[in-house]
Amino acid sequence: MTLVSFDGVTVALTEVQDNPAKYARALERARKTPGYAVCRCLPTSPTAPLRLVIRRYGSLFHLARWPDDGHRHNPKTCSFYRAASQPSRNSNDTLAAIRTIACGLDVKLNTSLSVRTVDRSTRQSSGAASGAMSRRAAPLLGFLQRVWEEAGLNEWAGAPSRGWGTCNAQLVSVLGDGKLNGKPMQDVFHVMRRYDVADGSCVLAEFQSFLDRITTTPAKSERGLLIAELRSVEPSKYGFVVKLRQTYETFFASKGVIESAADSFKPAWAMIGDASARVVALAVIERTKDDNLRIIDLALQLCNSAFLPCDSSFEVAMANRLVAERRRFVKPMRLEQGDAMLPDFRLTDTTVPTAIEVYGIQGNAQYVARKAEKQALYAREGAPCVEWIPPDDLASVQLPPAA
Ligand SMILES: [Zn+2]
Repeated sequence: MTLVSFDGVTVALTEVQDNPAKYARALERARKTPGYAVCRCLPTSPTAPLRLVIRRYGSLFHLARWPDDGHRHNPKTCSFYRAASQPSRNSNDTLAAIRTIACGLDVKLNTSLSVRTVDRSTRQSSGAASGAMSRRAAPLLGFLQRVWEEAGLNEWAGAPSRGWGTCNAQLVSVLGDGKLNGKPMQDVFHVMRRYDVADGSCVLAEFQSFLDRITTTPAKSERGLLIAELRSVEPSKYGFVVKLRQTYETFFASKGVIESAADSFKPAWAMIGDASARVVALAVIERTKDDNLRIIDLALQLCNSAFLPCDSSFEVAMANRLVAERRRFVKPMRLEQGDAMLPDFRLTDTTVPTAIEVYGIQGNAQYVARKAEKQALYAREGAPCVEWIPPDDLASVQLPPAA
């Protein structure tokens, strides 16, 4: 458990992440003087405290890693830890769709957030209408997965569990005061907060002010982007009704949008409502002429019970087991060409990092070929690898003990 200090109090980081409204005034005072909070994950001298950035997000505040300071945190327990040598993606690529800038992320999505006519989604295929030097644009899922990785939510340090409050805090601290399609990130993008009765009115007001910025006039439609945990998708008289966790607000979606999501994100779709898994949604939201909220584009990421991304129900089962056994591990994200050969999971608490491969898909030629290629690679390098080949029982898979 990581402790943090600010404005004369020392509390668990998760307590602050789960109850941002309760600590808003103390964080605001600390943001003025001394201008930072302090992480207590390691004993440090008072002259070189492990500082944390206090970021304002809406009416509340969040703690974020101090720039270039990630390597000083406790690598085993602290979520602010980041290896000094860890290469960041596209660090020198000025045409990249997603760039890390000083105050957060600068993102160009292939979905318009501001359109002149309300009838159609103006999704452009990246590069189609662009000259040689124009900036690339990220698809929704690519953006969702990249943000998850930047926030360190694909890493597990052996904690007993992780809830939405922590996910919200880590996502928000990565997004920061960045830009989305040239607009201020916080104006057009909302990370659903954990709803808590004590903080309720504050959380509701913040969400309402995001929804109020989603407007449609005869001439123009201003859209918004929302990350939340998906609760259910149900057919209705006018298409589908999408329900999210942490809010009673409902969102409509057309048959086309839902069929496309079900087809594009099959593993996630299959596990909506399954208690062993969680499904995270990134949705582009528009207001209809009748003042309803409508999802016009949607990406889904399957996660295990602790919000670690997974590519299949078998991976969910494996990740749940690793969490239950308090292992330390990473889910490497396959975001770029060349990432295909990354393992499904990597145990980081063994003497040598150990790959875990979940060979769950049978009968797909491309998948079988990659499996053979991966097995050859592990054999050639003598790299330790644990395999699970369902339908073998997961309990029969022997994991190396933690060092
Ligand atoms: Zn720390």
